[in-house]
Amino acid sequence: MSLLVPCPNCGPREFTEFSYGGETNARPKPNAPVEKLAKYLYVRRNASGPQQEWWYHRAGCRSWFLARRDTVANTFLGSYWPDDARRER
Ligand SMILES: [Zn+2]
Repeated sequence: MSLLVPCPNCGPREFTEFSYGGETNARPKPNAPVEKLAKYLYVRRNASGPQQEWWYHRAGCRSWFLARRDTVANTFLGSYWPDDARRER
């Protein structure tokens, strides 16, 4: 069974057309302590269940977008552009 990634521009496509960009992580403010910057760069939640992730449609529209994926069932719950109101900050 193949995994279909829902590109907000092209619709569901085979996962081999995409690059995974990792889970989203809130960017620290300028002048934040170095510990916060290190956490932003290197620490991942590795959630068990739904999480927001970056995806790039490498072999399609060549756009970065956000998707919610259940990491246990490995199913997508939706996708949207970075400026969408559904984005978790
Ligand atoms: Zn696309």
